[in-house]
Order: sequence, then C-alpha cells, then structure tokens
Amino acid sequence: MVEFPDYLKKVKPYQPGKPIEELQRELGIKEVVKLASNENPFGCSLFVKKAVERNATKINRYPDGGAYYLRKELSNFLAVDPDQIIFGNGSNEIIDLIGRVFLTGGREALFFEGSFVVYKLVTQINGGTFREIPLECDFSRDLNKILDAISEKTSVIFIDNPCNPTGFANKKEEFNRFIKDLPDHVLLVLDEAYFEYAKDHGVPDGINYILGINPKLPRKNIIVLRTFSKVYGLAGLRIGYGVSSNEIIQILEKVRQPFNTNHLAQIAAVEALKDQDFVRFCVEMNERGKEQLYEGLEKRGIHFLPTYGNFVMFRVENSQSVYNGLLKQGVIVRPAFGFDGYLRVSIGREDENDLFLKALDRLGLSCK
Ligand SMILES: *Cc1c(COP(=O)(O)O)cnc(C)c1O
Repeated sequence: MVEFPDYLKKVKPYQPGKPIEELQRELGIKEVVKLASNENPFGCSLFVKKAVERNATKINRYPDGGAYYLRKELSNFLAVDPDQIIFGNGSNEIIDLIGRVFLTGGREALFFEGSFVVYKLVTQINGGTFREIPLECDFSRDLNKILDAISEKTSVIFIDNPCNPTGFANKKEEFNRFIKDLPDHVLLVLDEAYFEYAKDHGVPDGINYILGINPKLPRKNIIVLRTFSKVYGLAGLRIGYGVSSNEIIQILEKVRQPFNTNHLAQIAAVEALKDQDFVRFCVEMNERGKEQLYEGLEKRGIHFLPTYGNFVMFRVENSQSVYNGLLKQGVIVRPAFGFDGYLRVSIGREDENDLFLKALDRLGLSCK
C-alpha cells in the first residue's frame, strides 16, 4: 500500500444531504421534497437563468481566472477594494484554502462545538490540530470562551454566524467586544453563509470590522465568507467569496487554482447580485416559512431552536428512525451533526413545509 499521513486516518468524509435523484431511484417515486441542504426553494433569479442560457455555448474557453466582471460588480456592491476579494468554488473552497495556508504542521484552529463540520475536516486534512469550545446548555455561544481559549499555537478561529445547524447567532454588541480583544496573531474566519437572512435581526456585518467602520479600527486579520449557494440560489454552480485585508487575500491567492470558479458561475453571480428584489422576496418568504414551521412544530409538541437562517433544528425521540421514516415518504431532512437526537430541516416553500409536517404526523410523533 502507498503510504499516506497518519492524521488522515481519523478523517471522516463529509456527508452531504441526500440528492433528490438518489431517493427517487431508491424508492421508485417521483414526489420528493428535499429540505436537507439549505438550498433556495425558489430557485434563482430569472435574470440568472437567461444569462446562463445565453452563455451556455461558450464553455469551450477557460474561464477568466481573475473573475474581472464579477469582482467589479461585487466590490461595488460591498464597497470594498477589488483586491480585498477572493472567489472560491463555493465558500467551502475558501475554507480549504485557509486550511492549506494557516493550519499545517500542527497549528491550531478553534471553533465552537457543533459548528459547520467542514472546519474540523479542513483542519484535519492539513495536519492541524483543533479545540472545540463548549456551548452553553441552551446551545448558545459565549464569545468570551473563544478569547479565553486562544493560545500562541492558535492560528485560526472559525465562527459560523448564524451557526449551521443550530441557527443561533451572536449579536453585534457581543461581536464588537470580541473583535476589540481579538489578538493580531490569529485569523478570524467569520462564515456568513446565511448573512442575508440574518442581517435585519441584530447580527453584525463582518465586513464592517475589516473596513474599520465599527469599531473605528480596520482589522487585517479577519476574513468574512459569503456564498451564492443559499439565498442567491446558485448552489449547483459552486461560487462563494471571501473578503479580507489585501495582505490576507494575497497569501490565499498563492494556493488558489487558476480556474477554480467557472465561466457560468461567474456570469450567474453577476446577474444574481443585480437582482436584489429576488433576494428580498426570498428573505420575506423565508420569514413566513419559518413561522409556518415554528407553528407546526409547536402544535405537535416538538422542541425546536429559533433560527437566524433558512433551516430549523428540532428534537425527536428516535431521530434516526424519524429521519428514515421521513425518507420513506419522500421527505429528505438531515441529522444535525454534533447534536444527538436532533434533525435539521431546511425552510422550504409553503407546500413543502406542509408536506414535511404531514409526514411527521404519519410517523405518529409525540415527542417532547
Ligand atoms: C452552506 C454553507 C456554506 C457555503 O457552502 P458553499 O460551499 O458556498 O456552497 C458555508 N458555511 C456554512 C456554515 C454553510 O452552512
């Protein structure tokens, strides 16, 4: 056998939500509702569809590795310098680039228990070490516990805000204090994959810390990650981005593959950004779907956590059999990794949420 590093032996590959086609094949049914991967149930902007169609024949050429037009559009939209942005094949790839640069040779990452599983994975595959910071008993997060845990070995802090899968988010005031005390030798990765859903609810805009808008001190050692996979509805095209100081971006650019984001994804992202009406519509519909699920779960006596994202984590007595029971009815949800006894359901369209709730009824759930 060809040798490979010891630290890879502990790595368990990422388990994605079950694809719709896979369940259709397995069950031989057509009607499948996927509420497993926090995708946008309303698809994407009509302008995106048209632009992708118009450009579908141009795939014989390599994409623009520098993503010139998208970079221009996004830097205007965010009011940051073009060279403060790095694009990735999903924001997942940027997490990967961060690991390759900052987490080799046993250097340490800190993140809360039950954070987005990719942080641990990326740390492990690069030979880094990690410490998981305990949650409070209601699954909230005390940022002071991160500050207390920082050591000289610490290179990276990952925080998903809102958190996937709990839906919890720390507020502006908490982050303002945290950022003030953040030492310069660590890179703070603020993963804001659900920012658009959370931004009107007192959750900070991490880019303000990079620009020094609030508090009035620009920070070079913060990178904010965002994605076109969630509210923009482009999960299948794979495109996300990071915003940081140009110093950090330049280092990450060293390990980025030249054609990591494809031509259609870049074009789609430009159009998606221009259509903020679509974003507002989806956020509004998500609020309604959230209420629908809260009400439906409450009525059934099922405990759930309030969410700042487009998904809800809930507790059931035998979560594995509930998961399977839902699957058999063509409803795909997901185990909430790191939280025994909990499942995570993405907020869907009204009809999808309804199907999910009715499928719970058919399982005869009476759980506290
Ligand atoms: C969905 C998600 C991402 C984004 O994934 P992409 O690679 O951009 O599709 C990043 N972080 C968290 C916490 C997520 O839930």
